[in-house]
Amino acid sequence: MTAEIIKKADAVMAATYTRPPIVFEKGEGSTLRDTQGKSYTDFIAGIAVCNLGHAHPGITKALAEQAGKLFHTSNLYYTLPQTELADWLVRHSFADRVFFCNSGAEANEAAIKLARRYFYEKGINGRYRIITALKSFHGRTMGTLSATGQDKIKTGFSPVLEGFSFVPFNDFAALEKETDESVAAVLLEPIQGEGGVICPDPDYLQKVRGLCSEKGILLILDEIQTGIGRTGKLFAYEHFGMEPDIMTLAKALGNGLPIGAMLAKEEVMSAFGPGAHASTFGGTPVITAAALETLRILTEEGVMEKGAETGAYFREKLTELKEKHDSAVEIRGKGLLLAMELNTEGAPLVQKCLEKGFLINCIQGNVLRFAPPLIIKKEEIDALIAFLDEIL
Ligand SMILES: *Cc1c(COP(=O)(O)O)cnc(C)c1O
Repeated sequence: MTAEIIKKADAVMAATYTRPPIVFEKGEGSTLRDTQGKSYTDFIAGIAVCNLGHAHPGITKALAEQAGKLFHTSNLYYTLPQTELADWLVRHSFADRVFFCNSGAEANEAAIKLARRYFYEKGINGRYRIITALKSFHGRTMGTLSATGQDKIKTGFSPVLEGFSFVPFNDFAALEKETDESVAAVLLEPIQGEGGVICPDPDYLQKVRGLCSEKGILLILDEIQTGIGRTGKLFAYEHFGMEPDIMTLAKALGNGLPIGAMLAKEEVMSAFGPGAHASTFGGTPVITAAALETLRILTEEGVMEKGAETGAYFREKLTELKEKHDSAVEIRGKGLLLAMELNTEGAPLVQKCLEKGFLINCIQGNVLRFAPPLIIKKEEIDALIAFLDEIL
């Protein structure tokens, strides 16, 4: 059966993904099971998405209850779950208002549109440029790939959108040099995810915040990968003693259900009046009910604190491995968004881990990324570490 599914998928689907020849059919907690009955410990969680693990009974219940009541009305009407979710996000963040959409790229699209619209509404002409970082990743739509500082994402899609400039991440002087009267916003990931789990200096984001405030530039943080407890705090900006004007979320917000959100301060979001932006599915009742329950469990049942603690443990174990093996050159990250940079290709290690029953991920060719569910157990980490010790 497995071989047939793979053969069929490879025949009928766009060949945009390179996948190992396994088919998953069930998950529970940090474990996934394939159609052959083999189990895997999941150290990638659907790319930092399933923070509470797979098939969480609380979320399944919230989802089923709402599905029995109301699926969808569109945003022509008010519904309770999306109101409650927006209220929760506002109460727990710097933001005053929320716009819901369905993915990370859409959240960033909304942020880019809001930044430009903000200056338009103020009657300020010519402020349209967005500065982003090299090695950033902001999505695959035309707007967000234009904002992404990696050429490989843009190949064959020219002409990309105008108005994006790129500076090295964590280089404040380069950013300062690039700012002028034409800049509407600076768009950054607080910790670069796809770029290799790259953390800035502790004061970088504070300095960027200061510069933006001084020059009347909006600061957008893309917390699509870093948000929702992934780095040990609800939002990664909380590590850096600063706040953005706009923030985007997606990935873990629905623990696997598709949802994105763009949050902003009152003064900024006021640029989005009726008709300025919209989404048919954005904040649909079933998904917002599940997302609200995700956030409740994450914060009220101690999952986030536990994840921060486990992350520190995992980092310590990875650091010990690095000390032992010459092929490991650096350990990076915060909370349970961690990486081990190698001086060799990462793909063979990913393959060996897969065969052994560990799902890990390789980015940028030589960086192993670890983003397990926040409920991952120390024994599960110990098992992976022991195996990595063997194969490094
Ligand atoms: C995954 C990701 C995106 C894109 O999200 P999609 O839901 O795949 O559109 C954007 N920014 C960052 C930082 C991401 O990690």
